[in-house]
Amino acid sequence: MDALIPVVVATPSHSGLSAVLTWAHPHPLPPGTLVRVPLGSREVLGIVWDGEAPDADPTAVRPVTEVLDALAPLDGRWRELVAFAGRYYQRGAGEVALAALPPPLRELDGVQLARRLKRRAKVTPPADGAPATPPPEPSAEQAEALAGFAAARQPLLLFGSTGSGKTEVYLRAVQQVLDADPAAQALVMVPEINLTPQLEARFAERFGRAQVTALHSGLTPAQRLTSWLAAHSGQARIVLGTRLAVFASLPGLRLVVVDEEHDPSYKSQDGARYSARDLAIYRAKLENDAHPTPECEPAHCRVILGSATPSLESWHAAETGRYQRLTMPARIGGGALPRLRLLDLNHQPRGAVLAPALVDALAERVARGEQSLLLINRRGYAPVLACHDCGWKSGCPACSAHRVFHKLDRTLRCHHCGHTSRVPRACPECGNLDITPLGRGTEQLEEVVAQSLAHVRRADGQPVRVTRMDADSTRLKGSLEAQLQAMHDGEVDVLVGTQMVAKGHDFRRITLVAGVGVDAALFSSDFRAPERLFSLLMQAGGRAGRDATIQSPSELWVQTGYPQHPLFEALKRHDYPAFAAQQLKDREAAAMPPFAFQALVRAEARTQDVAQGFLQAASDAGTGLPGQDQVTLFPPVPLTVQRVANVERAQMLLESPSRAALQRFLAAWQPALLQTRQGPAGRGLVRWAVDVDPLGL
Ligand code: ADP
Ligand code: ZN
Ligand code: ZN
Repeated sequence: MDALIPVVVATPSHSGLSAVLTWAHPHPLPPGTLVRVPLGSREVLGIVWDGEAPDADPTAVRPVTEVLDALAPLDGRWRELVAFAGRYYQRGAGEVALAALPPPLRELDGVQLARRLKRRAKVTPPADGAPATPPPEPSAEQAEALAGFAAARQPLLLFGSTGSGKTEVYLRAVQQVLDADPAAQALVMVPEINLTPQLEARFAERFGRAQVTALHSGLTPAQRLTSWLAAHSGQARIVLGTRLAVFASLPGLRLVVVDEEHDPSYKSQDGARYSARDLAIYRAKLENDAHPTPECEPAHCRVILGSATPSLESWHAAETGRYQRLTMPARIGGGALPRLRLLDLNHQPRGAVLAPALVDALAERVARGEQSLLLINRRGYAPVLACHDCGWKSGCPACSAHRVFHKLDRTLRCHHCGHTSRVPRACPECGNLDITPLGRGTEQLEEVVAQSLAHVRRADGQPVRVTRMDADSTRLKGSLEAQLQAMHDGEVDVLVGTQMVAKGHDFRRITLVAGVGVDAALFSSDFRAPERLFSLLMQAGGRAGRDATIQSPSELWVQTGYPQHPLFEALKRHDYPAFAAQQLKDREAAAMPPFAFQALVRAEARTQDVAQGFLQAASDAGTGLPGQDQVTLFPPVPLTVQRVANVERAQMLLESPSRAALQRFLAAWQPALLQTRQGPAGRGLVRWAVDVDPLGL
């Protein structure tokens, strides 16, 4: 008789199919083995799972088509991680597991895979010369942090100023771990793909190319497969990547680093909406449960979360002793953090985009051969085009949002659905020729800066060079790298950009950073907006003054109509702990995360009634389920941008003082949601999804 094999395949939880299905094979297969199995009329990749095969009609059980045993099975901790992520984020284990594998693996058959592995084994790793420059001596603070790391049993929060040399701590922590065990592996995550090449270069220089591999969505499918296999086989000892790397197969995992741990891009916004930072903590815990060490020794697998402005969740965990905090307040080389200068918009000339004092400050920097960074969180020229005669505005026909005016290519573009058209010559409603842009974005700021500084000469007598960096200017492959390089090479005097310019870069000659148009965040309905603004300004300011040999003081300027706002008080003193303490007090008083736990259900439908009706019916179906007594279900509401691409969007918030109760309820509620979807209240629904620990409400 054939053995019954439990296998997970990529069935989305919404399909109603259970996570684990049953196939037959002449003999049992070890869990974690990759197999190809027939599913309906297709053949798909699956993973042999743990436990008993679920009951199935014996006559309907079909045989496994092929066993991909050229590849070692995925280990037990990896399977537990994936199963946990599926449960916690309300998706199928199979969906999470298969999405975590590199796409080409889903297509290769056994023969192709074996050929692939053989070819890989033959490739000789590139020869490594001696490191070009010897590693620097650790500073006193770095040494202390590393001593803390050497003994750590808890997750570590490395709270280090911008420019304090956190990367050097990561490098040496990795070194410690790799030296201690020839099979050890380390995972180092960064928020953005554009930060991986820099980091890769530094790790490759220290450890040699052959030891390091990268995993992120910017790789070709073939590259991703190669990297994945290198990690899975243990050949790559260091994996650098973005959030998706948290699911890499790393049989020797001993260290996980999450750099810039506060960054929202660690939270996935589609499919399983997982937080790679939170899963990193869980992943290390799984390793440690499997490999307990004596009290006097460090944990088997350690985690470092690093940031100059930690998330309030992580900060709270450090305050309450769940994480161990390592602090590095000083900058390498003794450079000072930038001085804050607030420009009160109530006392500026009417209509001025940039305050005259700021223009002067920029001009001085240019003349001295220093660089400046100007930050605005909107791309395009202006967020709206309007007619003052009849009140027409450049609304999007498909969304409840305005289309953004892009002057460079004369288009109106919707940033929600992509709808694009040419800018009308005259008002489409009344024919008025004088339609005007309202508000400002990166394009306009670039234009204004260039005009205001047209008379200024660089130290070398050349005219000033202003450039813009945002999602538009970096769309083409390689353009981002080129722009960053130009910045590093000093070819740019003033860089205007969105928040992408604020992240992690080690620009050496910046002495002035300015934030424009930040006030909306001070009064946003999103309770996380102040946290995000504080960290954005602190991080952006952190790009300045990194070279202590430049004598002139570095400054962070902020144009605001509310200079008295307490957020700026803390920013002035570079006092993240004070800011965090204040925010945590507010959050506790209002019973908000991290003192409460949230989940969102989002629904999309042709009409708002259907979207909300589905949520209401689902809410009703949750009455009396386990955990519900500790969970508040708020009424369904439309999203801020209610309609996108002609689809109406609504959401419902769930909140609980207990994470466990919320999880208990969500697990019990999942079948009810599926049933509601299939019942009358689900008619006309386009899609729905649960977001656990959502970042934006
Ligand atoms: P952070 O990530 O904390 O902002 P970085 O890791 O980018 O800081 O370090 C800032 C700069 O200091 C980098 O140019 C780095 O090469 C340099 N650096 C770091 N540690 C040392 C050290 N111990 N001695 C000399 N230079 C160092
Ligand atoms: Zn008009
Ligand atoms: Zn639109």
